[in-house]
Amino acid sequence: MAYYFGKTKTEGKSNQKQLLGGKGANLADMTSIGLPVPPGFTITTEVCDLYYKHKQKLPPGLMDEVRKNVAILEKETGKKFGDSKLPLLVSVRSGAAASMPGMMNTILNLGLNDEAVVGLANATQNERFAYDSYRRLINMFGDVVSGVDHEHFEVAFAKIKKKYNAKVDNEVPSEGMIELCEAYKDVYKKDYGKPFPQDPLEQLEASIEAVFKSWMQPRAVKYRQVENITGLLGTAVNVQSMVFGNMGDDCGTGVAFTRNPSTGENKFYGEFLVNAQGEDVVAGIRTPLPVAEMPKWNKAIHKRLLEIKDLLESHYKDVQDIEFTIERGALYMLQTRNGKRTGAAAVKIACDMVKEKLIDEKTAVQRIPAGDLTQLLLPSFTPAAKATAKKDGKLLTVGLPASPGAAVGKLAFTASEAVERTHAGEKVLLVRKETNPEDIDGMHLAAGILTSTGGMTSHAAVVARGWGRCCVAGAGDVQIDEKARKIKVGSKTFTHNDVLSIDGSTGEVMLGEIATQEPKLSGDFATVMGWADKYRTLKVRTNADTPADAKRAREFGAEGIGLCRTEHMFFEGDRIVAMRAMILADNLADRKKALKNLLPLQRKDFIGLFTAMKGLPVTIRLLDPPLHEFLPHDAKAQGELAKELNVSPAFVKNRVAQLHEQNPMLGHRGCRLAVTYPEILETQVTAIVEAAIACVEKKIDAQVEIMIPLVGAAAELKMLRDQTQAVIDEVKEAKKFTGKLNILIGTMIEIPRAALTADQIGEQADFFSFGTNDLTQMTFGFSRDDINTFLPDYINNELLAQDPFQSLDVTGVGQLVEMGVTKGRSVKKGLKCGICGEHGGDPASIKFCHTVGLDYVSCSPFRVPIARLAAAQAALRAK
Ligand code: PEP
Ligand code: MG
Repeated sequence: MAYYFGKTKTEGKSNQKQLLGGKGANLADMTSIGLPVPPGFTITTEVCDLYYKHKQKLPPGLMDEVRKNVAILEKETGKKFGDSKLPLLVSVRSGAAASMPGMMNTILNLGLNDEAVVGLANATQNERFAYDSYRRLINMFGDVVSGVDHEHFEVAFAKIKKKYNAKVDNEVPSEGMIELCEAYKDVYKKDYGKPFPQDPLEQLEASIEAVFKSWMQPRAVKYRQVENITGLLGTAVNVQSMVFGNMGDDCGTGVAFTRNPSTGENKFYGEFLVNAQGEDVVAGIRTPLPVAEMPKWNKAIHKRLLEIKDLLESHYKDVQDIEFTIERGALYMLQTRNGKRTGAAAVKIACDMVKEKLIDEKTAVQRIPAGDLTQLLLPSFTPAAKATAKKDGKLLTVGLPASPGAAVGKLAFTASEAVERTHAGEKVLLVRKETNPEDIDGMHLAAGILTSTGGMTSHAAVVARGWGRCCVAGAGDVQIDEKARKIKVGSKTFTHNDVLSIDGSTGEVMLGEIATQEPKLSGDFATVMGWADKYRTLKVRTNADTPADAKRAREFGAEGIGLCRTEHMFFEGDRIVAMRAMILADNLADRKKALKNLLPLQRKDFIGLFTAMKGLPVTIRLLDPPLHEFLPHDAKAQGELAKELNVSPAFVKNRVAQLHEQNPMLGHRGCRLAVTYPEILETQVTAIVEAAIACVEKKIDAQVEIMIPLVGAAAELKMLRDQTQAVIDEVKEAKKFTGKLNILIGTMIEIPRAALTADQIGEQADFFSFGTNDLTQMTFGFSRDDINTFLPDYINNELLAQDPFQSLDVTGVGQLVEMGVTKGRSVKKGLKCGICGEHGGDPASIKFCHTVGLDYVSCSPFRVPIARLAAAQAALRAK
């Protein structure tokens, strides 16, 4: 149940993260490689699991083990729990297998009581420090373990400060601290109903339980949801002997990254505070100094820290995020973990580490979270717009560049305000003095985050970077009045209705909306993409409906179009009028007339697509959505349409009513449209073939794939395939074209029945493309347009681990995909299979696509790089 680490023995290993949590495993590991780690022990995640399995009770025998380990700790340190001469003090910290910064509870200075505090004062010859530590324990324990309202402690502290005429905590003298401890004990007793526990083991037992409890507190649960952390047993608890960074000016504490986590630059990147406890740095209460300035304070410590940095990087072969404390000139390592970094930093670090021969290419490819590449593709402010803004005096202040990107929005002052206003359709910046883990909802939804205190390693900075959310931290000139919903910068005041622009790469805070631009990609990005292409076997196509999208996707490395939704071509300009005329036609002649107007427009679109994608396959899907979607629904718009089409408003109204369906997504759509209106198929196929011939004549290599949607039975496909082939032949003949066109005719597998009968359907298809949006909708019976009304409840109750429309449900829907592939290929060896649902750009789903042997994935242009990397990672992991 508990693993000791220290000079006496070290029981844990670095590969035991699941059992000991990341922090516990690394503390054991650092101890093993001889780093100065204060000794302690780790209670396993299995105990947390047992705690929840047994109605939130600590398992029998745990406290016996704890006592045994405390005894070893006492022996090793020569200190004793609760001792009046040389007391042992410990910290109690959470630590799960996945890092969840600040989401769970910590208790420091545990072991102090009325006697031990005297012992600490004597041992350190520092009475003020001893009582300051004691009051911190009562406060933290009260807060975290017993649920005492923090505000009550604040009130008590304010009284003492007033009495001693102290503006800041540091100015309260020793006797004030002694009084404060008494006052805090009174607050504790009054609020909690029982006195503050004097028995250190009782304190320890309650603290261990509080850490386990914090595993399920709302902010921790929410963080796991957002970060997609599943399948863990729970948190471990680390009980570690305390070292103090707040015993005087030869003490200090800090956090550092072995490389810059924002840009990836290979430069030690840390911050420290003299005479402070660790939490002061992370919580952003005081603004720390850069580690580069440490030599001015203590040269030897700085040198040792740099040595340890190199040792850690060569040991873990990755960037480390470390916490350290200096107690009376001696350096201690309190934590190391792989550092969270931005997408840009991940790419640079991976490339640099390959150059430094720390890791190989394959490791580099697997190191970069594919989804984080989005951040590299993030917009930034256009230099011209920014220069103008600055010239016009719009630059209000500069904070710390905590997380890159450009964000524009109105000001929201609390996390819940940010959530509400975002849901209401506004773009907001969350403006806080500092953020804390309870703010994560608002931080996640806001366009950007601006804080007035806190450093690059403060909560806001770390969390925002992990998410690729733009963040400017520590903008000290910004005075925030949360109640009045105002900020003041210098002499200017701004309210919740003012728009600011923040630049997370420079820290600039500017007034008004500044124009943004698409990103330029670095050489390292190209290197990583090159490696990815070397190792992946899945091809990556794009879902694109316009030549501009196709071109952009091709620049991102798309190897063809996997889905062109032709209906999207009809929403633009006056095309919609021609389209509506076609839909409203109540006889064949009128419909054909309307289609004739659409044909040249379609042909032009297709020539554009084939040209943009020359040499690569282009899958064009025949009309899919219910026709009703194209029609106006209010009387005014219907009246205008009637005028344009020269028909009566009543005619339009009646036709709209006629076309209305109860369940349009299960209604007259997909291939059913072509069954009822073969002339639509005829027009579209004619446009495609004419476009292909026009391209061939211009020596543009058009590789055409015609895709028939929403097929559920082989007979449907057979009939429509024959019609398609007939049109192809007719157009060729009409155009007297004798060259080679090589047009494939395939189908989407997006109805469960299509997957179940894929062997029959396969006989009629040249290719399959899995439409996992509809396949998910119809397999779960969840309406893809309405799922958000109940999805949050499903996620909160853990009925679903994630939104199945974002990440493929491998267990259920995945079976249908796998069956579709197997059955299809059983009748047509090597049948080309791809996916074009939204899942085609989701790394976890891509891994599945690789496993079941798809030939390609197809996703939106911006996700093409992500898909290339994810496909390589899937291939490398499968080896
Ligand atoms: C699908 O159903 O997965 C698909 C790609 O088609 P659409 O989203 O257009 O229905
Ligand atoms: Mg579909």
